[in-house]
Amino acid sequence: MVNAGIVKECADCAINGEGTCCGVRTGYKCGSVLLLINLLLGRTLPSVPADSHLCHFLAKHGCALRARHVICVNFLCQRLRDVFPHNILCNVQEIAGREIDTLFVLEECIKKRIGVATLIMAQKQ
Ligand code: SF4
Repeated sequence: MVNAGIVKECADCAINGEGTCCGVRTGYKCGSVLLLINLLLGRTLPSVPADSHLCHFLAKHGCALRARHVICVNFLCQRLRDVFPHNILCNVQEIAGREIDTLFVLEECIKKRIGVATLIMAQKQ
């Protein structure tokens, strides 16, 4: 995204355009396993949001997470679709797809390892 110029475009939009698309509801999509992965990757999770009207994980210099929710990884707004050529967006989406696949496998491994399914079954009983 840096190489393609998307990061620069998003920063410009956040500051001079419509504002960030990291809305408050997206933060609630981040589950406990995703947050655990971020801690294991050495990220510090904010205890309070920088702006309570925006995503909890949106820090002053961008997203505080290294591993992010699918919607954060593959979302392409209309502005990006208007500005960037199709082949550039396809390249970025191809890389995003690999990131999403990797995260899915990792999350499933962790859930299996800590026995999430067993914990959920025990809660229901
Ligand atoms: S990219 Fe980060 S800050 Fe933005 S919505 Fe996703 S988790 Fe929140």
